[in-house]
Amino acid sequence: MTTSASDAVSAMQLFDTARRAVVPFTPGDVVTMYTCGITPYDATHLGHAATFLTYDVLQRRLRDRGHDTRCVRNVTDVDDPLLDKARQLGIHYLDLAAREVARLEADLEAMNFLPVYSAPRATSAIAEIRKVVSQLIDSGHAYVAEGVVLFDVSTYAGFGSLFHLGQDEMIALATERGGNPTDPRKRNPLDFVLWQASTEDEPAWDSLWGPGRPGWHIECTALAQRELGDTIDLHGGGGDLIFPHHECSAAQSQCLTGQPLARHWMHGALVWKDGAKMSKSLGNLVFMSELREAWDPRAIRLMILEHHYRNDWSWSDDSMPVATARLERWVEAGDGRGGLDEVRAALDDDLDTPRAVAAVDAAVAAGQGVSQAAALLGVDL
Ligand SMILES: [Zn+2]
Repeated sequence: MTTSASDAVSAMQLFDTARRAVVPFTPGDVVTMYTCGITPYDATHLGHAATFLTYDVLQRRLRDRGHDTRCVRNVTDVDDPLLDKARQLGIHYLDLAAREVARLEADLEAMNFLPVYSAPRATSAIAEIRKVVSQLIDSGHAYVAEGVVLFDVSTYAGFGSLFHLGQDEMIALATERGGNPTDPRKRNPLDFVLWQASTEDEPAWDSLWGPGRPGWHIECTALAQRELGDTIDLHGGGGDLIFPHHECSAAQSQCLTGQPLARHWMHGALVWKDGAKMSKSLGNLVFMSELREAWDPRAIRLMILEHHYRNDWSWSDDSMPVATARLERWVEAGDGRGGLDEVRAALDDDLDTPRAVAAVDAAVAAGQGVSQAAALLGVDL
């Protein structure tokens, strides 16, 4: 679409991780979004909720601006951590996945998340994945090595350039995040798995390269293409997905279709606790189910919105009483459109939710009802 100067001025401004700048976000009437979902082997924690909330509030403002939004959030229901956990528990991996997806959906529904356009599972796309892997082999971008299909990064000159990463930095990140750059089957250390042979107790699907299962990155390329088309307006996810997941997804999509996977890349920051990034391996997680038992879900939403999506922040035990008191003041203020214009302006300015929350506080302090502004943040008073 063409953008006039006046459109650019009034357009939403969003930081694009690829362009490393706040830029006008100017999608058409229907905004297509894809955000990487969970590997369903454990309960949803605050880090997941904060990431997904970013795209929820973004969609609310886009709809408020007159767009239709279609946000796809996949479920990685075949992957190492899920298979490992199912093994430990002695249950079928899809039973574990079903249980954890149900818990995620209950958490998100309680927190008043907009329903997603679709939540496709990786295992629903095996046929599509086999097809795109074949296409990448046929076009010379991938090769077969001892039952594994690997993407050949040397065939794509732009590899690493989307997110401005140098070779050494990528190798360090791949090593840290399980990419096995020293695997002797790889022609180049950064080549990544598109299809892998399954071990005896792992699920396997027949393929031209032997029975196996898909790699992680190719799942998102296949699902985004199936659900939304070759190029999506906005791709999202946690900041820890930039490399390798998003760089690899974008590279293989570009080689597959000749088109960019996404026009805009938007990544959420990470949530910390006890001086470290919240992670399963460190065991410092705050689970949504526990928070929901103790606090009004609207207050949990407000607590997260007090932080800008691009800034890392730390969980504190003091934060929920503060958010609860704020919610009570907003509820008491009642119906009205106080703060609405300011909230719209704040959200249009790179989704500045702390400023939006402060604007509602100011309207409450001025004696105005704030139900409409609160609703735009997903808080129904
Ligand atoms: Zn993904």
